[in-house]
Amino acid sequence: MHAELSATLPAQGMVGLLGYPLGHSISPHFQQAAFDYLGLKVLYARWETPPEQVPQVIARLRTEPDLLGMNVTIPYKETVVPFLDELEPEAERIGAVNTVYKRQGRLIGANTDAPAFLNALTTELPGQLSTVRALLLGAGGAARAVAAALLEAGAAWLTIANRTRERAERLAEELRTWATAPVAVLPWEATALGDALRQCDLVINATSVGMRHSPTEGQSPLPSLPDEPLLGGHVVAVDLVYNPLDTPFLAAARRAGARTLNGLPILVEQGALAFERWTGRPAPRSVMRATAERALKDLG
Ligand code: NAP
Repeated sequence: MHAELSATLPAQGMVGLLGYPLGHSISPHFQQAAFDYLGLKVLYARWETPPEQVPQVIARLRTEPDLLGMNVTIPYKETVVPFLDELEPEAERIGAVNTVYKRQGRLIGANTDAPAFLNALTTELPGQLSTVRALLLGAGGAARAVAAALLEAGAAWLTIANRTRERAERLAEELRTWATAPVAVLPWEATALGDALRQCDLVINATSVGMRHSPTEGQSPLPSLPDEPLLGGHVVAVDLVYNPLDTPFLAAARRAGARTLNGLPILVEQGALAFERWTGRPAPRSVMRATAERALKDLG
């Protein structure tokens, strides 16, 4: 699919991670491992960039031939869009870009978070996505990608709950402009989610609640879940948080009878799909996954 790039891959190159601050990102670890494993002389660099310097970084990416592309993370996934020449349809629909690559000197924006979510879910927990009934917790950048991916895959309905309700309402309105399935919004309080939890097949934590080194470390976005055995055995619970690998949300979902998936396979898959766009080569996913697991252990 991206084979034409491999012919133009320079002998040496660089890919960057654009964000601010970059904190404890593990992308540099597993992306560098992938380049090294394939013997590609490419450096994956941390481009920690304050907002006023973002235009210059993108201008350099455009003009310097050895700069192959970049990953984009918080808070720039939407910021970079107007600077690009073209968006892949998925990125256009989501309005956010996590990967930039070059084709004939043009900067193309992709959103690999959305297909990564679907790929990881179907690989790790095979099931029928085309009629899935989904409850999505969160309405930030990650939630936008998950929502679009599920509705494109044919979800039967999607219900969104977010701490800031207006943000969920805005996301739902945007989704309703193109989605054929019903999109609803519920209040954030766990008590309001009872019916949706009873009826859904898939519940996703796309909030940052539970992240290590954050104010919500050790917390679950559904604090009352352990006392309410609402989830049936057919239900899949996905946490986009990958550090820690096992979160209070996933532990509670397991106790309530659900099958679970943590955020690491999704993180590695979004990176693999980005790697394939920069290099035109199949990404060495098992090397990337093993390196990501080691990096997380080292981070503690
Ligand atoms: P974001 O755009 O900043 O959105 C953050 C979301 O978390 C919002 O819905 C926010 O609600 C909610 N939130 C934050 N603190 C909260 C709290 N104390 N109580 C309730 N809700 C809270 O961030 P993002 O890019 O969507 O990322 C969200 C999470 O997904 C992060 O943990 C990130 O690491 C993870 N992620 C994982 C992958 C992966 O590949 N595994 C990819 C992308 C992101 P409000 O709107 O009310 O602020």
